[in-house]
Amino acid sequence: TKVSPFVNEPFTDFSKEENKKAMEAALAKVKAELGRDYPLHIGSKKVMTEARIVSINPGDKDEVIGRVSKADQALAEEAMQVALQAFESWKRVPAAERADYLFKAAELMRQRKHEFSAMMILESGKNYAEADADTAEAIDFIEFYAREMLRLSRINETQPLTKIAGETNNLTYIPLGVGVVIPPWNFPLAICVGMTTAAVVSGNTVLLKPASTTPVIAHKFVALMEEVGLPAGVINYIPGSGAEVGDYLTTHPKTRFVSFTGSKEIGLRINRLAAETAPGQIWIKRVVAEMGGKDGIVVDETADLQAAAQAIVASAFGFQGQKCSAGSRAFIVESVYDEVVEKVVELTKALQVGLPETNAPVGPVIDQGSYDKILNYIEIGKTEGKLLAGGGKAEGNGYYIEPTVFADVDGKARIMQEEIFGPVLAIGKAKDWKEAIAMYNDTEFGLTGAFFSSDEDRIEEALETMHCGNLYINRKCTGALVGVHPFGGFNMSGTDSKAGGYDYLLLFTQAKLTSRKN
Ligand code: NAP
Repeated sequence: TKVSPFVNEPFTDFSKEENKKAMEAALAKVKAELGRDYPLHIGSKKVMTEARIVSINPGDKDEVIGRVSKADQALAEEAMQVALQAFESWKRVPAAERADYLFKAAELMRQRKHEFSAMMILESGKNYAEADADTAEAIDFIEFYAREMLRLSRINETQPLTKIAGETNNLTYIPLGVGVVIPPWNFPLAICVGMTTAAVVSGNTVLLKPASTTPVIAHKFVALMEEVGLPAGVINYIPGSGAEVGDYLTTHPKTRFVSFTGSKEIGLRINRLAAETAPGQIWIKRVVAEMGGKDGIVVDETADLQAAAQAIVASAFGFQGQKCSAGSRAFIVESVYDEVVEKVVELTKALQVGLPETNAPVGPVIDQGSYDKILNYIEIGKTEGKLLAGGGKAEGNGYYIEPTVFADVDGKARIMQEEIFGPVLAIGKAKDWKEAIAMYNDTEFGLTGAFFSSDEDRIEEALETMHCGNLYINRKCTGALVGVHPFGGFNMSGTDSKAGGYDYLLLFTQAKLTSRKN
C-alpha cells in the first residue's frame, strides 16, 4: 500500500469554544481515572510490585495521578531476558509490518488526542496548548519514523550501490538488539514516544524506563501500543529509580544501546558507564544522549524590537522554562538594551501563574527538587544581576514560581552558564552585535539559539558563527517541528543526534552489505 507523504499534526486552537469544551471533557474523563495502580509490563506479564512510585499533580500536590509499580534490579533482569527473546522474532518481522503497528498507533492516538493531553496537563503541569503540542509531536514522531523505516528498507532503489559485473549487491539496515530507553519528564509523551518508536520500528526491542515524575502518561502510551497488537516483549515498561535500574541496565552486558534524553550529568554518567566492557559483552554499546541546554537569543539594533521581546519571553517562560530549548539567556546590544529590557519586563509581568487545568499560561515546575533548585538559583541571581521581575515563589498548592528576569548579568555568571531549567531569564548587555554573538557562544552547551536582526550581512555571519544544533533567525528558539526542524545540539548538549530527522534511525540500526556472485 502507498503511504502518503509526512505532514505535521495540526495544533488545536483553544480560543475556539468547542475545542476548549472538548479539552475540559477530556480532563473530566481523565480525572475520573486518577489514583489507579499501574503494573510493569514485562513481555505479556503485568507485574504489580509492592514498592510504588506515586505520581502527583505538580499544580495541586494533594492530587495523586497514579501509583506505578517500581522495578528493581531483579525485575529489570527479567525484562532484559524477555526483551532478548522477543528480539529474536521481532528482528525478522518485515519493516513494512513493523511500520504498520506505528501507523495504527498514530491513528488511535489522534482519535484520543485530548485524553493524552489532559493526562499531561495533570501529571506534568502543561497548559492546554503546550500539552496539545506535545501530543501532536508524539503523533508526528510515530508517523515520521514509520515512514523513515520504509525509506531505509528501500535504500537499494533510492540510493543504489555502484554496480559491478558479475555480482548483485545489497545494503540492509538491520537492528542492533535490546536497547534501554530513558526519556525525561519535560516532554513526557513526545520524547518518550519518539525514542521508543524509533528504536522499535528499526527492529530492536526495548526496556522503557520512564522518568519517575511522569510514569502514568508513559503507561498510557505503552497500553496503546499493546492495544494495536504490538507483540509482547517488544516494549517492556519498567519504571524505577534511575540510579538503581538505570545503572544496572547501562552496565548490563546484553544492553546493545542506550537511548537517553535528560540532563548533562546523567548523560555523561551513562556515556562513561556504557564505555566499560562487561564480562561476556561482545559489542561496543551505542549511546545516544540528548542533554541539556543554555540557549539564548541575540538582538541587534536593527531588529524588530517588539518581536524580539515577545520571542525572548515566549522562549524563556514557555512550560516554565523547562525545555532543553528554553531561551534562558538574552544578549542585547547597548543602543537598544533599555528598550528591549523594558518590553521584556512588561510582557513577563503580564504572565499569569495558575493551575494548568484552568489553562493558566504559566503553571508549576515539576517537583520539589526542581522547585528548591530553581529558588536557589534565583537567590544566586540576586547577587549576580538586577532583579526586574518575579524573584520568588508564587501562590498555589503546587510548585509555583514567578517568571523571573535578571538584567545586567555578566556572561560568566552562574545564571548565565548553568542550566536552571525553570522560569529564570538572564539578560546581558553587549557593546555591539559581534560581542553579543561571542557572549552567546560562551557556553559549554549548544542546543538552540536565535538571532534578531534586519541586516542581511549580519544574519549571514550569525548563521555561520552561532554554534548550536538548531539556529533560528527572527523567531523564538523553542518549538521545533518533526521533519521540519530536526532537533539536537552540539557539545555538552549531546551526541549530535537529530530527532525527527533523516539521520535518526541510523542510530538504531547497522548496515549489512551482502554480495552475491551471479
Ligand atoms: P534527568 O534527571 O537527567 O533524568 C532523565 C532520565 O534519566 C529520567 O528517566 C531519570 O530517571 C533517568 N536517570 C536518572 N539517573 C539515571 C542513571 N544513573 N542511569 C540511567 N538513567 C538515569 O533529566 P530530567 O530532569 O528528567 O530532564 C531534564 C533535562 O533533560 C534537562 O537537562 C534538559 O535540558 C534535558 N532535555 C534535553 C533534550 C534534548 O533533546 N537535548 C530534550 C528534553 C530534555 P528518574 O526520573 O527515575 O530519576
